[in-house]
This record gives sequence, C-alpha cells and structure tokens, in this order.
Amino acid sequence: MSTKISIVHVKDHNNLQEAIIKGIELIEDDFKFNLSELSYILLKPNLLRATEDACTQPSFVDGVLSYLTKKGIDMKNVSIGDSPGQIKTSASNIAKKIGLYEVAEKKGVKFVDFEKEIPIHETIDGAIYLTDYYVSKPVKDCDLLINLPKLKTHGEATITGAIKNYWGIIPGGLKAKFHLLGKTPAQFGDTLADNYAWVIQNKPNRLTIYDLEKVMYGSMGPVSGPMKEWNLILVGTDELALDVVALAIGKFKGLNFVPHLKSAYNRNLGVGNLENIEIVGISLEEAKKIAPKFKMPRKSMTRFASLITGGFVYKVTKKIPIMTKKKCKKCGMCSEICPAHAIHFVNNEYPVFNKKTCISCLCCLEVCPHQAIDTKARGFKGLFTSY
Ligand code: SF4
Ligand code: SF4
Repeated sequence: MSTKISIVHVKDHNNLQEAIIKGIELIEDDFKFNLSELSYILLKPNLLRATEDACTQPSFVDGVLSYLTKKGIDMKNVSIGDSPGQIKTSASNIAKKIGLYEVAEKKGVKFVDFEKEIPIHETIDGAIYLTDYYVSKPVKDCDLLINLPKLKTHGEATITGAIKNYWGIIPGGLKAKFHLLGKTPAQFGDTLADNYAWVIQNKPNRLTIYDLEKVMYGSMGPVSGPMKEWNLILVGTDELALDVVALAIGKFKGLNFVPHLKSAYNRNLGVGNLENIEIVGISLEEAKKIAPKFKMPRKSMTRFASLITGGFVYKVTKKIPIMTKKKCKKCGMCSEICPAHAIHFVNNEYPVFNKKTCISCLCCLEVCPHQAIDTKARGFKGLFTSY
C-alpha cells in the first residue's frame, strides 16, 4: 500500500484559503471519487469545546468550502456536523460560540447535530471491543466524508488527530458507553481503531484536510493547553499516514507511543511506513524545520487519565432518560423509535425503560411529543453498575 500527502506552508494566515485549495489540488488527481457525481458531502471538524484552540478553526472550514465552491459543488449537497458527547451542549451550540455556524449560514451549508437522528446499528469486521456498534445517520448517509482534524495532545489517547477525530461520528452519550470498553490506554487505542475500521470498511470516499496552523501541546490537551504555531496544512486520503506524517513533522518517532495508531498499523488499516508515503508540496524536511518539536503526554499521565475517565468520569456522566408520568400520554412513540429496544411498551400503560440496554442516544427525548422525557447524568450510582 502507498499513499500521497501534500504539505503546504501557510506563510500568512490571511492566505489560509488559498493554502487549503492548493493543498487539496496537489493531490486531487489521485481521488478515487468524482466530486461532481456526489450527492451528499459531510464535513466533520473537531468541535470539542467552545474555545477556538480546542476546535478546528472556522476560517479553516471556510477554506475547504471555498474549494468545493470552486469545483462547482452545490452547497445544498454539503453539511457540517459533529457530536461532542457532552452532557449539556451540542456541536451546533459550540459552532455558534466559535463563529463556525455563521460560516455555514453564509455559505448556505446545513449544520447537523449527529445525535439528533436515530443512530444506525452497524457491524465492524474484526472489531475487538466495538462489537455492538452504532454510528450517526449523516455519517452513514454521506457519499464523501471530509475529515477536518486538528493536532492536539490527548490525556488518554496521547494525541487526537486524523484517526481520533472520527470518534465524533459516534452520536452523543454513546461515546461514554463505548469509552467504558477501553479502560486502559491500550484498550482505548483498540476501541478507537475499531471505530476507524468501520470508517475504512464503509466510507471509501474520504478526504482529510489537517489543521496544523496551531497545535496544542501539554498535559491539558485536548481541551486546553499551550498552542504552538506550525503554520502547516496536510491533505491526504489515508488517516494513519497523515497522523504518522504529522508526528514526523513534530520530530516524534515511533507509533508505539500512540496506542490507536499502533493498533491501526498492526491491523493494516492504513499506511504507517514513511517510505510508502509520497510527499508533495514542501518536503518533510522543510516542514520539520518550520514546526517546533511536538511534546507528547507521558505514559504515566495517559494511564492515570484513562483510570479516571474510564473508571469514574464516564460512569458518572453517562446520560439516562427520565420519564415523567404526569406528562406522559402513553402514546408509545418512544418505544417505537428506540434503536436499542430498551423501552417496553404495552397499550394504555406507561413505557418502562431498561437502563442496562439503553445506549444513551436520547432519541426518545427528541421524539416524545409531550416533553415527558428529560435527561440526567447517571451520577454516583453509575460507579456501582456494570453497564
Ligand atoms: S413518547 Fe412520551 S408521551 Fe409517548 S409514551 Fe413515550 S414518554 Fe409517554
Ligand atoms: S431508551 Fe431512549 S436513550 Fe435509551 S437507547 Fe432507547 S431511545 Fe436511546
């Protein structure tokens, strides 16, 4: 296997749009898809928290939309979406706070919250942990998935970048449930690689444009941490290769330190050897000179973070639906829509929720016509449950 990646130096932020278009055009002859034949293009930025450093920049997404406009793509066929998996916010709320929603509106592009639609039950060939998997409907439906990651340190996964950004294709609270499957950094790495395997197996048309203008360092990533200017953009279609090149630019050697990259490499999910990656644009050596050395979180730090989040945070923050009998009109719509068959309904009786099989998608809350369902975090009781 081999692949091609372009590296572009963004000498002036005001020219970001031109740099993005140049980066994509350098590899577009190798696309396996014809842009003009696609009916639904989905852009997946990283929208983790409502701070500019934690997210793919709105100006970056704007640049990618400009490329699509240049190629004659009708913006009605394009959406932007994500699912941050937090209890009290959505991707569209984050997009509004950082100015990305405005960009979408200006360009006539729809913004989609992945958790607003019923998740799709899917199978992943060779899955280690995600054997009962669900993915967001817009991701399942799109015929081109454009991945817009940002490179940041990550307390548990070591880094978040091209492969880790796909964790957001799992809708809402489901991420918390799936997170519990990977309790150590190595297990979480296998879980992330399972999710990436679904992408490889189901989304042959993919393009990644990697936001490396500013990179997050330090042990507080991916939410906050010192930002270092790299002033680079990478473009390619193989996410493992893109992460490998990003780390090489940061003078970081060895996939073994990043569990999900190691797992993806061992499972042959992408191109992990630099000798099989053709670089166009500026050379790898030139890029290395531009970017300061990347610093990973220490292994002891990622082990500790996994212990805390896997063993405590996700158990406590898992969302569960709560039904109010006073408001319920016994219509049964929640039971009909539940993708996990976790709501037992008998005519003229109140629905009964099975917390064990509930996947926290909150579709029941969305569909209930009488606002009888609310959500709450499971709280400390979650520490004493096995699901
Ligand atoms: S959808 Fe709402 S009103 Fe209908 S049964 Fe469920 S909780 Fe009750
Ligand atoms: S009970 Fe509600 S939140 Fe749980 S899986 Fe069913 S629809 Fe989703």
